[in-house]
Amino acid sequence: AAADRADLEAARLNAATLRAALDALPVGVVVVDAGGNVVLRTRQAQGVVGARHADVLVDEAVADHVASASRGHGRRQQLDLYGPPRRTVFIRSIPVVVGAAGPAGGGEPHAAVVTIEDVTERIRLESMRTDFVANISHELRTPVGGLALLAETLDGERDPTVVDRLAGKLLVEAHRVSRTIDDLLELSRLELEGARRDEVVIGVVIAEGLDRVRSAVEHRGIRVDVGDKGRALRVTGDRRQLVSAVTNLLDNAVKYSDPGSTVEVHADRVGDEISLTVRDHGVGIPPTDLDRIFERFYRVDRARSRETGGTGLGLAIVRHVATNHGGTVTVESAEGVGSAFTLHLPCRTEPDASAPPAAAPDLAPHAIGEVA
Ligand code: ADP
Repeated sequence: AAADRADLEAARLNAATLRAALDALPVGVVVVDAGGNVVLRTRQAQGVVGARHADVLVDEAVADHVASASRGHGRRQQLDLYGPPRRTVFIRSIPVVVGAAGPAGGGEPHAAVVTIEDVTERIRLESMRTDFVANISHELRTPVGGLALLAETLDGERDPTVVDRLAGKLLVEAHRVSRTIDDLLELSRLELEGARRDEVVIGVVIAEGLDRVRSAVEHRGIRVDVGDKGRALRVTGDRRQLVSAVTNLLDNAVKYSDPGSTVEVHADRVGDEISLTVRDHGVGIPPTDLDRIFERFYRVDRARSRETGGTGLGLAIVRHVATNHGGTVTVESAEGVGSAFTLHLPCRTEPDASAPPAAAPDLAPHAIGEVA
């Protein structure tokens, strides 16, 4: 029955349909007959990269594949093009026996099919993932190594003042490991869960965030000004996540400010968007680093981040929360002047009182696959 169906389908198939279908594939396809003539080259195969010099290199590689596949040898090749644009192309060739002949043997002429695929994005994601794992190992190994060393030194130490000092350091390092693990768990939860769609009052989020950084604020003698405007604004979202984002912004504002300075928090509605800004008058961020500070484990000043007990994950968490809410986070900063981080969130759309309550649409959980 399967053979019958295949015959029937083959009888219906015309060249134009086949051509259009192959052109629609996300990979380029080149088909060669047993005489070595190209009988089909799909649109994707006519310029994978779209830059002339790179496409010439791809064409040359494809011609090599055609030649060897015609002799019965299939191959796979990853071709790195150094650009610009920098691209990685994967080429695969498969010898094909046409008609009723048995399995393809070496030597005799073969028809062949060659596929060409731009795998740049896949390679980029893979390398990001590998980097991330390497970073985690490094970020955890350093403090754990420190813990072991401190414990060793402590062991056998009799002088009570030295014991006190070492125990204090041990505690600081232990807290650092535990914060890093907490932040990593938070990030993976953000990736897995998406955001709830509750009604959340901005003022409540700010108040909870302030509560969490209270001891740091008091310790550094920072004054926090919270603007009245916008506190009653509401967004649709996940209160826990929003509090986590605001806490991270406040925590940074306090950490990267001089003792005694002021941090301002204010919310506002601009068009369809609610903005929540945390502004400090601290060290600021050099323009060259601004693009990278949202990456996991990226720090402008390692020593300072270490001194203040940073994990390097705070802003990655903030950005993830923004994405989970269909929003963004932006930063303005000048060295020695200060920084302002703003969360931009879509306004809560008022449910129409006369209409029956609609099922809440899923809030973009698909938008969070990104690995920063
Ligand atoms: P960390 O735990 O190191 O603070 P974050 O992800 O929260 O990590 O921030 C990344 C880096 O961005 C920090 O190490 C710091 O260099 C810089 N940064 C973040 N917030 C501020 C700020 N308010 N002022 C100055 N620099 C900041």
